Amino acid sequence: MAVGDLISILWSFFFPAYCEGCGKIIPEPGWCSSCLQKLPFLEYQCVRCGVPLLADDHLCGSCLQHPPPFKKVYVSLHYEGLWAAALRRLKFHKAFWLLSPIIKVWKEALKGPIPQGDVVVPIPLHVKRLQQRGFNQSRLLAQELYGKKVVKDLLVRVRYTSSQSKLGVRERLANVRKAFAPHPQALIQGKKIILFDDVMTSGATVKEAAKVLKKAGAREIVVVVMARAG
Ligand SMILES: [Zn+2]
Ligand SMILES: [Zn+2]
Repeated sequence: MAVGDLISILWSFFFPAYCEGCGKIIPEPGWCSSCLQKLPFLEYQCVRCGVPLLADDHLCGSCLQHPPPFKKVYVSLHYEGLWAAALRRLKFHKAFWLLSPIIKVWKEALKGPIPQGDVVVPIPLHVKRLQQRGFNQSRLLAQELYGKKVVKDLLVRVRYTSSQSKLGVRERLANVRKAFAPHPQALIQGKKIILFDDVMTSGATVKEAAKVLKKAGAREIVVVVMARAG
């Protein structure tokens, strides 16, 4: 037996990992094989905004009527069940051990290659919210996936907004209007930007952020989110 194997056996003996779904002891953090199969993978979705649909290769009504300011949303799981629980645990209970399993599952579930760009921009939190929470979960997830391509402060949250979770679609749009601004020294002109967020619901937040980046000269914007609600 190699020394590395022995160390990992000893490590899991003293620091066991528990399945996020059923609590069973597993070799590394994340989900056991049967809970993995219960994760809400998306089958059919809008080719542009990623919203779940009943058939493949379609644009949803909203994208047909109002084409969004981004090229495409990359997402392969629904925001529900065990997947939503894990994302909430990361965000509200500092479950940082979930960063790596979340990214691993997301990557495996994605149909096709991981999108690449010049820079990766996580949706920023307002300074006040960042102080309350202590971290930006989208930034941590983005770093887990893209490493050094993630830039800080390219986009700034200039207006404190209330939580979107209890608002309707229209209220969400109004709530995030003028919430973002590009950093005065940011180099955005001509760049292909990956906009990164943990959860996309109505899309109001990423649309507003993409609009601002486009106005600042970005060439193309694609969106990467860990979960799609709707
Ligand atoms: Zn399990
Ligand atoms: Zn759509």
